[in-house]
Order: sequence, then structure tokens, then C-alpha cells
Amino acid sequence: MVVKTTRGSAKGILYALLTSLLLASIPLAEVRVVATIPDLADIVREVGGDRVKVTAIAKGTENVHEVRIRPSQIIATDRADLFVQMGLSLEHAWVPGLLTAARNQDVSVGGKGFVNCGEGWEALDVPADASRKRGADLHPNGNPHFNLDPHSGPHMARKILEGLLRVDPDGREYYEANFATYSKALDVALKRWEKQRERLKGHKIVVYHTEFRYLTKFLGLEVLGTIEPKPGVPPTPSHLIKLIESLKDQRGFVIVTAAWSNNRQVAELSRRTSAPVVELPGMVGSAAGVDTWIGSMDVRINKLIAALEKE
Ligand SMILES: [Zn+2]
Repeated sequence: MVVKTTRGSAKGILYALLTSLLLASIPLAEVRVVATIPDLADIVREVGGDRVKVTAIAKGTENVHEVRIRPSQIIATDRADLFVQMGLSLEHAWVPGLLTAARNQDVSVGGKGFVNCGEGWEALDVPADASRKRGADLHPNGNPHFNLDPHSGPHMARKILEGLLRVDPDGREYYEANFATYSKALDVALKRWEKQRERLKGHKIVVYHTEFRYLTKFLGLEVLGTIEPKPGVPPTPSHLIKLIESLKDQRGFVIVTAAWSNNRQVAELSRRTSAPVVELPGMVGSAAGVDTWIGSMDVRINKLIAALEKE
């Protein structure tokens, strides 16, 4: 088909071309961002778009309480404009050391480039007993795994937006537009998950660690037991025997783990109780195709539905 171009529309096309060339030549800021976990890096990409370059420290398959820092990550933090952490002691074993080694005042605690997503988040399971804070408990300030709460997307995105506006105020319009678009996507996703949870309410699970605490609460799942006696404390043989004993009259439950905790105690419990093991994404990047925060939540919920509706 031949389209006859009138003089007017040719002018219009030329104008559009020139405008787009002009826009393309405006250098976009390159805000260097280091995020502690890939979930936060994904949200930084959503809000920051082309103005940011983000790297995540933890890998999606790792236990977020125990992350080994590579020298290249210290260099990245040293050069970063923005550092984004979950907080609530989630990364307590490795973030303070990383920030000290990086010696970047701007992204140190209290610096304008430091974003603590735990700020303003109401954690579940905050210990009433202050002595727990001194023990070997990895959740001394309550459950810090709120990245696994389907409700937490808007909170994390807003914290990130605030941080970006502090370090790159010239990008305000751009960031706010991205934030608005992402907020709509989060809203659509939340409605989908709320609908899906109707299929899961009242189903029973056993977990290894309590990282899925917010998710199981959201879905209305009943947690029959925890393989770790305390967060971060591996089970003793006697704890495992007691757990097996307590489950002997239970039917139709599954054992939920993440990649890092899918270990021999989980396999032992599965063998002794005949309950299947369901490995859920612990974070973005924990398995092929788990590339975004919204997508990772979809995979978790779909996997639980597939496993529990079978039981
Ligand atoms: Zn934990």
C-alpha cells in the first residue's frame, strides 16, 4: 500500500523526528544505586527507569541473613549515589561492614543517599521480651522479611522514590510518572492476589524459616510448625522429632522452603510425614523466570495453589 504524504504531514513527521533527536541528546542523569536485595533493585528500576543504574548485593537464591560481600560490591557502594536496604536487622550481618568498608558518607546511615525501607513499616512478631534482642535471634526487631508481603510493594516503592528525589531532584517529574505507573501495576497485582487467596484460605503448611510469615498471613494459611526452633537456629534432632510427633494426626499439608533452606532436615521431615516439599522463590532471581517483584509473588502464589489444591 502506498501512502500519499501531504506536505503538512511530512512537516509533522520531520518535526517529530527532530524533537525525538533533541530529546535523545539530552543526557539523562545516571544515578548509581546499590540495593541490598534483588527485590529492591527491581523496584529501583521501575521507579528510576533510564536515569538509574542499579546493582543488587544478594543473589536471589541466597539466605539474606548471610551474604558474602565481594570486593567489587564494596567499590560499587563506594561510588553509589543511593544505597537501599530493607532494614529491621534483615541485613544486619553484612550491611554495616559493607558501609564501613565503602567509606561513602553520602550513603551511610543518615546520609541523603541512604534509604531504609524498614522505616515506617509495622513489623509482625516484634518481641515483647527485650532479652530476645540479646540472644541468637535473627529477628530481634520483629519479622524483617516484608519484601515477601504482597502489601509491601507501594511502601518499598515510595521509600525508593523519596531517596531518588533527594539525590536527583532534577528527575522529579520522570520519577513521579514512573512511580504512578508502577503503583497502578502494583494495584492490579494486589487485586489478583486477593482473588487467588480465596483458594488457599485455611490450608496448612510447615515452614523452615519464618520468611514467608507476611505471605502466609495474607493468604490465610495455617502454619502448623517451624523447622527452625528460632529464626536462624537450625533444628536439633530432638526438635525435629517433637515436630514430627505434633504433625502425626495432620493430613493435607505441605512443607514450604526457599532455595537456601531446602536442606536435609526438610527432606527428612517430608520422608517421615509424607508431606511434599514446595520450594518458593525467596527473592527475585531465585529461579529462571522470576525476574520481577510482582512476578516473584505470582510464582509463589501459583506454586502454593498448585501444591495445596492437590493435597
Ligand atoms: Zn529471617
